[in-house]
Amino acid sequence: MKNYDIAVCGGGFAGISAALAAAREGKKVILFEKQYILGGLGTAGLVTIYLPLCDGFGHQVSFGIAEELFKLSITYGAEDRYPENWLDNIGTKTEADKRYEVQYNAQVFAILAEKLLLENGVDILYGSYVVDISTENNRITKLFVENKSGRNTFSVGAVVDATGDCDIAHFADAPTALFEQGNALAAWYYYTNPDGYHLQMVGVLEIPEERSGNKEKLLTNRRFTGIDGKELSEQVCLSHQSTLEHWLKKRETDKNAVISTIATIPQNRMTRKIVGEYELSDTEMHTYFEDSIGMVANWKKRGPVYEVPFRTLYNKEIKNLIVAGRCTSVNEALWDVMRVIPCCAVTGQAAGTAAAMTDDFSTLDVSKLQEKLRNNGVVIHEKDILK
Ligand SMILES: Cc1cc2nc3c(=O)[nH]c(=O)nc-3n(C[C@H](O)[C@H](O)[C@H](O)COP(=O)(O)OP(=O)(O)OC[C@H]3O[C@@H](n4cnc5c(N)ncnc54)[C@H](O)[C@@H]3O)c2cc1C
Repeated sequence: MKNYDIAVCGGGFAGISAALAAAREGKKVILFEKQYILGGLGTAGLVTIYLPLCDGFGHQVSFGIAEELFKLSITYGAEDRYPENWLDNIGTKTEADKRYEVQYNAQVFAILAEKLLLENGVDILYGSYVVDISTENNRITKLFVENKSGRNTFSVGAVVDATGDCDIAHFADAPTALFEQGNALAAWYYYTNPDGYHLQMVGVLEIPEERSGNKEKLLTNRRFTGIDGKELSEQVCLSHQSTLEHWLKKRETDKNAVISTIATIPQNRMTRKIVGEYELSDTEMHTYFEDSIGMVANWKKRGPVYEVPFRTLYNKEIKNLIVAGRCTSVNEALWDVMRVIPCCAVTGQAAGTAAAMTDDFSTLDVSKLQEKLRNNGVVIHEKDILK
């Protein structure tokens, strides 16, 4: 049995941010990732648009590791949505030009993120599925992890659930909730043609009011929970078929188009989340929260800014468990906003920093957490944004 101060389960943007933040606080951190690549949906899932760090009216709202990873993702150049345009001609150009967002290269980002975590002393265990936990006195004491070596046991101080599906909270019998509407089928893929390398977004949940460029239709009326093994396999097969059909149709007009990459992770947006000590609602934009850990913007709409209460990241029934990313406690309407990459990085940084400070989250002095986050570049409250 191996011992770690902090276990981060899942290596998407939330897990990367949490592991980095915790390691920078000097803790012994292990990150378990079931794939052999970091980035989760943001790399293996081919979702490569780092949605905005700004409110759409020229004010940056997400900072710290959210901005660091944004910049890391374009170390060798952006693929589209060039961030240097974000302050130019606000309100007059295309949506992408109005927002501080970028399209990056998934593979380059994954390699750079891995290097960054290793340089900061994080132990990464790839191909490692956290399949169960054991608890004592309302604490997770052990994680059971399966990989090529078989079943391994890890003893841990604090646990960050960054699985995207709230797997660890579910194993620990912490209160969780499912996405009631279920996920629409998506089949995003990359193709090449003589003009270059292109992201093809097939299957869009809805057409956001300010994103009129999204013209894709639903691929099927079936909805997917994202937490059932058999259903996930069916979903992936349907997604592959949709990719093939889409590409064959494309070839009728673009005969040199070649599929270059398909997703290696199911493209689910919302699955399972923690029922936290607080549930942030879509109506709470511009609300001051004493225990805010940072801010996020609304990628669909210019204007709304949300402070994220620390209480959305844990339920005190399991003392040493904190969540980040897609598993954060928000209402059904806000989930589609909170799940995106910058929000995952914001909650990841807070969860990792908090895990380095305590193994009983409901007792943490949040002002001390805020102090650490501020020292690491995070702006906590909307009133502190320079306008
Ligand atoms: C079709 C689609 C389009 C999207 N479009 C955008 C977009 O344009 N821009 C944007 O910003 N966001 C977009 N999103 C949302 C965004 O990509 C994700 O919500 C975000 O990347 C989630 O990050 P995460 O770290 O919380 O979770 P994930 O990316 O899901 O990462 C979780 C990681 O944990 C691992 N894992 C899971 N369970 C276990 C376990 N038990 N043990 C070990 N490892 C485990 C997984 O392999 C994965 O790597 C889109 C999502 C979808 C599906």
